[in-house]
Amino acid sequence: MIYDLIIIGGGPAGITAGIYAGRQKMKTLLITKEFGGQTAKKATEVCNYPGFERISGMELIDKFVEHLEKQESVEVKFSEAEKIEKNNDIFTIITTDNEKLESKSVIIATGVDPRPLEAVGEKEFIGKGISYCVTCDGPIFRNKTIAVIGGGNAGMEAALFMTNYATKIYVLEFGPDIKADEINQKDAKESGKIEIITNAVVKEIKGENFVNSLVYEDNVSKDPSTGSGQVKTLQVEGVFIEIGHQPATALAKGLVDFTKRDEIVVENETFATKTPGLFAAGDNNSGPYKQIVTAAGEGCKTALAAYDYLRKLNSNSK
Ligand SMILES: Cc1cc2nc3c(=O)[nH]c(=O)nc-3n(C[C@H](O)[C@H](O)[C@H](O)COP(=O)(O)OP(=O)(O)OC[C@H]3O[C@@H](n4cnc5c(N)ncnc54)[C@H](O)[C@@H]3O)c2cc1C
Repeated sequence: MIYDLIIIGGGPAGITAGIYAGRQKMKTLLITKEFGGQTAKKATEVCNYPGFERISGMELIDKFVEHLEKQESVEVKFSEAEKIEKNNDIFTIITTDNEKLESKSVIIATGVDPRPLEAVGEKEFIGKGISYCVTCDGPIFRNKTIAVIGGGNAGMEAALFMTNYATKIYVLEFGPDIKADEINQKDAKESGKIEIITNAVVKEIKGENFVNSLVYEDNVSKDPSTGSGQVKTLQVEGVFIEIGHQPATALAKGLVDFTKRDEIVVENETFATKTPGLFAAGDNNSGPYKQIVTAAGEGCKTALAAYDYLRKLNSNSK
């Protein structure tokens, strides 16, 4: 079967694209690892989505999904797309379990992935004490000592969220200063549970079956003759990594241009890429102002642009 449209990603951009594609009765497949993306995982409180003065990201996504499920021409497949190819006018999406799915147009709405720390042991302990999402995994660490890596707003907000569960939270920041907003720093101080360690370069996360310690180099004590600082160990049972994000765009290699930050270059009006029939909506593209409402808006525009593209494609082939 060849779909009219395949949407890759189930965050605000992908779900909105699905709703618009459904309303246009396009035969659509939405492939996603899960529903919600950053909005469900990270945005604990959303106060800027029109119509909702205050709503949790998870609740907002539940409403998006409910709306999507009303679209009869849209199927959903929980899977991970690994590569996109195009031959003549047909795109093939290859999934990580090697399934090949065909479509006449594609919207890439894959958003961003958490940036890895690249410390020794990180890959080994993902899901065994290492996490990138406090709202998903926070409760696992009830009454435990944990570390949050990253002293920006994301890290500090993660640490504050974890005060609901953990007994002690270290926040490790690579640089000499914490970059989180004053209000977050003040709340951290007042929590009585958060200890901030700056100039800390995390080297290794250790454990047996589960994380039991973290090793970092203290940059303040760096010896200029050797270039290395004192190596210190913290006994922790959990590590949350909050050092930013990177666009999830590798699957489009060869079909699109990328910015220096690996975002997909799109044209301003319709979010089309350089490959006809291939669009990119949301946080993964070169556009500014990465928000839920803009991702949803781009999902709408790309679905309608894909519809126009298909009409032209179909009339040319007659
Ligand atoms: C801490 C935090 C707080 C925020 N708070 C707000 C806020 O209050 N208000 C606001 O407007 N914005 C907020 N944002 C920003 C907002 O969450 C994002 O702009 C928005 O989620 C982007 O939507 P998206 O659909 O482009 O991508 P994402 O939300 O990143 O969703 C991408 C989706 O694609 C899926 N995916 C990725 N790769 C693949 C693949 N290869 N195959 C299949 N599926 C794939 C993912 O699983 C995910 O479901 C916040 C962000 C963060 C990090």
